[in-house]
Amino acid sequence: MKFDVIVVGAGTAGCLAAKTAAEAGLKVGIIERKTQEDIGDKICGDALGEHHVKNVKLPDPPVDVIDAKIEGIKIYSPDLETIFTVRHEDFSGYLLDRKRFGQWLLKMALDAGANLFDATLCLEPIISNGAAIGVTAKNLRTGRVERFIAKVVVDASGFSAVIRRKLPRDMNVENEVSNDDVEACYREIRQLKNGVESKYCEIYLNQDVTPGGYAWLFYKGRSRVNAGLGVCMRKGFPNPRSQFYRHVINKPIFEGSTILSAGAWYDPTRRPLDNMVGNGVIITGDAACLVNPIHGGGIGPSMLSGFLAGRAIIDALEDGDVSQQALWPYNVHYMSHYGAKQASLDVFRMLLITCSNEDLNYGMKYKLLTEEDVLKAGLGEKFHLNITETARRVFRGIRRPHFLNKLRAAVNLMNKVRDHYAKYPETPRDFASWKAETEAIFNEARLKLLAE
Ligand SMILES: Cc1cc2nc3c(=O)[nH]c(=O)nc-3n(C[C@H](O)[C@H](O)[C@H](O)COP(=O)(O)OP(=O)(O)OC[C@H]3O[C@@H](n4cnc5c(N)ncnc54)[C@H](O)[C@@H]3O)c2cc1C
Repeated sequence: MKFDVIVVGAGTAGCLAAKTAAEAGLKVGIIERKTQEDIGDKICGDALGEHHVKNVKLPDPPVDVIDAKIEGIKIYSPDLETIFTVRHEDFSGYLLDRKRFGQWLLKMALDAGANLFDATLCLEPIISNGAAIGVTAKNLRTGRVERFIAKVVVDASGFSAVIRRKLPRDMNVENEVSNDDVEACYREIRQLKNGVESKYCEIYLNQDVTPGGYAWLFYKGRSRVNAGLGVCMRKGFPNPRSQFYRHVINKPIFEGSTILSAGAWYDPTRRPLDNMVGNGVIITGDAACLVNPIHGGGIGPSMLSGFLAGRAIIDALEDGDVSQQALWPYNVHYMSHYGAKQASLDVFRMLLITCSNEDLNYGMKYKLLTEEDVLKAGLGEKFHLNITETARRVFRGIRRPHFLNKLRAAVNLMNKVRDHYAKYPETPRDFASWKAETEAIFNEARLKLLAE
């Protein structure tokens, strides 16, 4: 079978890529291992900022797709004594009915003319003369393996990254991602016995329970809650499900509750892949590590990447050139829209990973970082630390003055990263030197921030 575009994966990234390309009249095939009716069903926190929907020019989601509206987030210190409340339009939005949301996106892609091959497992890319020219996939109903030939292949297969992992090395795409940059998560949706509601997403920091991650409670309306936790997969990390049962489910609100859905999955919380295109291939969403490194939100960036990938493919096919050079504008646009912010937050993540509970308790209590700093960091804006004399005294008192130095180093490195990403190369020709500098900055960050 021959297509202009083959999209592997009908998640949020894949549906946006397929919709965008099909709307321009391109012949699009979507290969998805799930059956059509299961598309959209994903282990997720289900939270989505409203601005992400507007960014990709989607209409407001229909009411049956939204379980509840959210107005902001509350972040709890490990000792629960300090609560930061962050309210801003970037942190307000929806708690989704995830499956219905996925079905809504899929319908838009199919209405635009994309063809769905469901219950079809993509096996690998077909590479010829240094370019991707299609994929092989197994029909899970018949067991038959088929070849799907396309001018451009989009990897939208999420964390599995079935295409990315098998691209030839000379495409300069990272095939593997370090476990240190991945959160292992477990989450349940529970029906509560006693109604508890909140318009705020609750985030609980605790390095003993969720090293390098956090636990969350997101209220979905009708006395249902999406609760889960993630832990950074660094040396000796604990099992997230066991931590959930030991430390989250024993909260009083869960007494007498029942499980509606449960499962575990991964979230790649690092900077974007430095390069996300090769000859005839584009990588999107989780497959390209496009997740906010601090809170792990990836629905918005994955939709953005699908949308930008679709646009880059339309332009490339108009010029009859699908080389890495022709698809490169996708890299440039993603980095300027979201990638630069994501990369600077990756530095902040490194600082958080090695924070002790004491650092977090005192840091939040004595406003080492204020709510405004957290907001600015979350928005990816530049900020300067204004550490008060009280905070300085407290940290000297608890014999952790080096934490203040680490915090300063993190803020400087975050600003350095933003400046560096503003110079993302316009063509692949200048990529090698830009990448070398990127690695140097991130090595410096690892050295200064990850040392305990
Ligand atoms: C526990 C957890 C909680 C999260 N909470 C939030 C949250 O609250 N808000 C938020 O914004 N983000 C959240 N995220 C992140 C978010 O879910 C992802 O970033 C987002 O779904 C990525 O979209 P995607 O389209 O790239 O990948 P996916 O949604 O994973 O879609 C990939 C698709 O590809 C298909 N596929 C995979 N391999 C193959 C193959 N070989 N052949 C054919 N099809 C294949 C899959 O079946 C799937 O349909 C969370 C993630 C986790 C793990």
